[in-house]
Amino acid sequence: MSAQGVRTNHNEYPIPQSQRAWVLGDPGQLIFTEKPVPMPKKAEVLVRIDAVAICATDFDVIYQGPPAVIEGGLPFNKNFTPGHEYMGTVVALGPGVDEYAIGQRVSVEIHAGCGQCKRCREGMYTSCHNYGLNYGDVDKGHRANGFTTDGGFCEYQVNNINTLVAIQDDMTDEEGTLVVTAGTAMYALTELGGLVAGESVCVTGPGPIGLLSVAVAKALGAQPVILTGTRDNRLEIGKALGADAVVNIRKTPDVVAEVKKLNGGKGVDYVIECSAATSAVNHAVRMVNRGGRVCLAAFAHEEVPVDVAHIVRNNIYLYGIRGEGKSATHRAEAFMRQKRFDATLIHTHTFALDDLPTAIRYAKDRVEDAIKVVVKAKMDAAQKEAAE
Ligand SMILES: [Zn+2]
Ligand SMILES: [Zn+2]
Repeated sequence: MSAQGVRTNHNEYPIPQSQRAWVLGDPGQLIFTEKPVPMPKKAEVLVRIDAVAICATDFDVIYQGPPAVIEGGLPFNKNFTPGHEYMGTVVALGPGVDEYAIGQRVSVEIHAGCGQCKRCREGMYTSCHNYGLNYGDVDKGHRANGFTTDGGFCEYQVNNINTLVAIQDDMTDEEGTLVVTAGTAMYALTELGGLVAGESVCVTGPGPIGLLSVAVAKALGAQPVILTGTRDNRLEIGKALGADAVVNIRKTPDVVAEVKKLNGGKGVDYVIECSAATSAVNHAVRMVNRGGRVCLAAFAHEEVPVDVAHIVRNNIYLYGIRGEGKSATHRAEAFMRQKRFDATLIHTHTFALDDLPTAIRYAKDRVEDAIKVVVKAKMDAAQKEAAE
């Protein structure tokens, strides 16, 4: 690598010309191929990807397309590499970059906004008005790894320094991939906008974001924190992450009444909806007290009927969030560094990069109760043996 102004350390961190990378073909089709290693530009670094986690939104991208937007359209057959929850090691610095050092371990946020639109200027770079406008003649400098630009199912990727979160050496690669997940939970609580200490929170849906929403809410001092879901094993992990009470909605016909009962007979102050269930929004607006706030963090897959009159009569606030804005990942990483919760409780499986289709199957079909499945380009020999 020898572009002008790019700094490398070839002795300690050699960078090959090409890399192994998965690309999206037709819907649901992933192809393992070779791609050139990209070169960092101004305000960018090259990250050697040490681990990447699989997210439910990856399934949306791989099977349906949106929210990925590549060259103004669907992401299929465009030599596009998905994957967005990754961490790694900085191996090259773009011109002028002195904020990070070669060899530094980092977690990577997904969204680098254009930096010039109204929302980016407000810190809401995950709602950048120039989303996806980063190709050809309309290059606005926007990047969303694995959504609008190449992501992490490969060995090397360039990233804007705004998206990097430095991590400590005692954080494992697997835990490093969860900084973004915890950051999304932190962003949900940021957007809800209250001083959460001593206030009641119900989290609906014990997926990765729901489970870490429990952890972050508890770390912020919420009381009580109630988690609802359908799988006892996941609800138990929720307890280990700080839930004061859990409700299995399969065994509890009236989940709204049960949540109120667990909160001293009253509605809760906040609901973070992470289940994407069709009934979840109406349940959420009935779980909160008058003037309460609901954050919708899950991507629903169909249009959902909502009881608007109930929301209006009771002055209920509804927030939608995309991703992990307002530098929430940095606050989440601070909690993880302080060991305020053990995010690794949601990591269940690790596979090699060339086993990505198996890893996706485990995550999608929840094989062996999989929750967070991680893929590594360079697996330790011992890990690989354990996986086989
Ligand atoms: Zn994700
Ligand atoms: Zn923008």
